[in-house]
Amino acid sequence: MTCPACDLAPARVLLRRDGFLLHAVNQPTPVKGWLVLTSERHARAWYDLTAEESAALGPFARRVMQAQLSVLKAEHVYAFAIGDVLQHFHLHLVPRFASTPSHHRGRAAFDAPASEALDAREVEAAALAVKGAL
Ligand SMILES: [Zn+2]
Repeated sequence: MTCPACDLAPARVLLRRDGFLLHAVNQPTPVKGWLVLTSERHARAWYDLTAEESAALGPFARRVMQAQLSVLKAEHVYAFAIGDVLQHFHLHLVPRFASTPSHHRGRAAFDAPASEALDAREVEAAALAVKGAL
């Protein structure tokens, strides 16, 4: 069995700290700056994290979200931990912009059709801009 999180290409990792990886979302998306904090080890959900991992997660996520707000000029950042598929805890940090259409807001961002996805270079540039502020 392959694991998409274990197999994440090192070049896609923006930051590695405290048992977590920060990377851009691993699918075409219409939302620039959509980042994911993923546990390095197999831990299905928040309840499987160690006390140390849990303690590190909040400050790490907060810092990333503040960078998404300031660097990308997002007006809000959603945090989703759903955990239906991967065997790694992962927290989606999804910016919402003034220009974000209603059908990309909130949970709907996950269901956006691939035809509405941004160019991969634009997604990459936004991720690197956030990284530069961390
Ligand atoms: Zn894995």
